[in-house]
This record gives sequence, structure tokens and C-alpha cells, in this order.
Amino acid sequence: MSEQRSPSELASRYQAVRQRIADAAARAGRDSDSVHLVAVTKYASLAQVRELIELGHCDFGESRMQHLLQISAQVQEHLDRRRELGHVDGLTDRVRWHFIGHLQRNKVRRIQPLCRLIHSVDSLRLAEEIQAAAREDHPPTEVLVQVNVDGERGKHGVAPAAAEHLIDQMTTMPDVRVRGLMCMGPQSEDPEATRPVFERAYELFDDIRRSAGLERFDVLSMGMTQDFEVAIECGANVVRVGSAIFGTPDPDAVEAEAAEAS
Ligand SMILES: *Cc1c(COP(=O)(O)O)cnc(C)c1O
Repeated sequence: MSEQRSPSELASRYQAVRQRIADAAARAGRDSDSVHLVAVTKYASLAQVRELIELGHCDFGESRMQHLLQISAQVQEHLDRRRELGHVDGLTDRVRWHFIGHLQRNKVRRIQPLCRLIHSVDSLRLAEEIQAAAREDHPPTEVLVQVNVDGERGKHGVAPAAAEHLIDQMTTMPDVRVRGLMCMGPQSEDPEATRPVFERAYELFDDIRRSAGLERFDVLSMGMTQDFEVAIECGANVVRVGSAIFGTPDPDAVEAEAAEAS
């Protein structure tokens, strides 16, 4: 008996985002495979994350340490149980976490072992802490340098003029590997206000890629729900999308985040 199931709301939103990524990549003359989607779980439930994993999605991003510790442990438990039940489709090994929020130095040791990529390195001292937290017999921690491209107040990130120097200093750290840049667009309703900022971010990324002589400096993480298509058109190859996939946050979650961020 075949079960006719219509796709869930989450599955439809996810497919819609993937389609918009593919369309934006096509407009920019790029292959849609060249753009990686990080699904931001900030306001997602565990059930939603599990459903996305079942749909084959692997890359998840989180901006709050507490939520990352909690949800990554719950997901791991779910995957372990799945494996015990005999699912051998390899999903377990493919799920990867990205830390995308402001990172305090005293949290590095808890975050670092969980993360595939830390998007938000914005000071030498933070980089040094990641180096100090390195564990023997582990590959280097891959990180992005967060740049505050438009100098908007209250936004984290190094000034564009300081990015290359910071990256130079980080190349002396054997257990930290800088893979690229991350930036946030301006807080504007108008995606076109964002374009010049993302264009500048791409120029900076490209300059450093050419001049710094790093082995693999190839990640440009920019674009969220309100501006990921513009970001792709400007050269982003990682986009971090939350609400367009998981729905708009409920007010309690927003409050909790504000409390943790302050
Ligand atoms: C929350 C967040 C996102 C995703 O935001 P949406 O607007 O929900 O897509 C992306 N990047 C960072 C750094 C975030 O904190």
C-alpha cells in the first residue's frame, strides 16, 4: 500500500530555499553545488532538525553556546538510536555543526570540539585561545574571520583594514586554519542596500585570497534569510539561513537570545 504523503511545511520551505539558492547561483553564472547552505537552528525545534536530517541535510549553524550544546547532544542521541535500529545510511557521520555567533574566549573549549567550522573569529586573542585549546592528534580547527564590512555600530567583526593583518598572525598558529571570511549585511529591509556591502566583502575576500598565499582560503560566508540571494550573486559560497527554513521565531525564543547576548 503506497502512502501518499504531501511534503510537510518544513520540507516545502526547505525545498523553496534550495530552489532560490539554485536560481541565485544561476543568475551569477555559478553552479548551485558551489553554494553551501547552513541551516541556522537558533529558533528550530529538535523535531525540525531531525526532519531536516532525514531529508539529507547535514550542515547546521548555531549562534548560542547553550543551545548548541543542548541541540547537538540531542541530535547525536537521536542519530545513535537510529544507528542501533540498523539505519546505515551514513547520515550519522555527515551531520556537522557551525558556530556562527559571537564567541567568548572562555567558551572556546566547549565549542571547539563540536564544530566543523567557527565562523566568528574577530580578534587575535580569540584565535590564540582556539590555538591553546587544540587537542593533540586532532586536525587543526577551521575558522573564518568575521569582518564588519560596513562598520555598522554594535556589529561584531574586525575592520576590513585589519583583516589581513589578523589573518597573517593566525598563519603562525599550527592548530588554527583560516578558511575564509564571514560577514553580516546591514540591518535593512531592502536587500539592495546590502549589495554594496557584500560586494566589498567579496573584494576583500578576493584580495586576501590572492595575496596571503594561504593553502585553502576559499570560504565566504554571507547571507541570511533576508539577503542570501544578493549574497550569492556577490560571490558567497556559504549562506546561513534560519527563519526561511524553520519559520519565524516565537517571541520567547527571541527574548532568550537577547538575554544571552547581553
Ligand atoms: C540568526 C543568524 C542567522 C540566520 O538568520 P535568519 O534571518 O533567521 O536566516 C545567520 N547568521 C547569524 C550570524 C545569525 O545569528
